[in-house]
Amino acid sequence: MAHEILIVEDDDGIRRFLRISLRSEGYRVSEARTGAVALSLFEANLPSLVLLDLGLPDEDGMDVLAAIRKRSKVPIIVVTARSTDFQKVRALDAGADDYVVKPFSIAELLARIRVALRHNAPELVDAGVRQHYRIGGLEVDCDAHSVLLDGSPVHLTPYEFRLLEVMMQNPGKALTHRFIQERVWSHPTSDGFRTLRVIMASLRRKLKDSPAAPRFIATEVGVGYRFIGRDCEGARDTGTR
Ligand code: CA
Repeated sequence: MAHEILIVEDDDGIRRFLRISLRSEGYRVSEARTGAVALSLFEANLPSLVLLDLGLPDEDGMDVLAAIRKRSKVPIIVVTARSTDFQKVRALDAGADDYVVKPFSIAELLARIRVALRHNAPELVDAGVRQHYRIGGLEVDCDAHSVLLDGSPVHLTPYEFRLLEVMMQNPGKALTHRFIQERVWSHPTSDGFRTLRVIMASLRRKLKDSPAAPRFIATEVGVGYRFIGRDCEGARDTGTR
């Protein structure tokens, strides 16, 4: 059955535009203008994804985000006019899967929705299968800790490897500095942000990736990083030995 998307948005024009766009892509849609209606619709319909405006008439969208997160791991994409880095980071760290800033491009929003829905798909579990990622010329074998770039081996330090692994495990998603640090180091230091930047710079150099025209890892200014491998759709690949 088609995925149902809950649109939480008090602006009638934007809500109508989202409804029409999503329906034409084959999604089912439910709509809420307030936080209270959003929560009751969420309970009633258990949608596959939530598009959440942060500026709602009755309560702060951040509270709606927290309330939904308490109940469910459903993908939540924040659609907001609040565009400061602090607000994006706050929403992502509170459990949003991604954010889109108004005015947004519908093509970009639809791409983010596809990524978020795929991320929520059940993962293959097979103890005999090794973790292997192949994205846009990059091949990573997580068990052997080996990396091939366009067929040639790349030698990474353990931290660089772990950083690449964390990025590849979350293709297409904006990851905050904090999210990444917590997964790369078991004990992030106060200097973690600087250290992350240094390791990221060195990883990008080894992958011949350029921050100005990224092939694999894009900078989300003031927020963190996003893995953007060209074949990102269907990125996960599990192969047998
Ligand atoms: Ca609003």
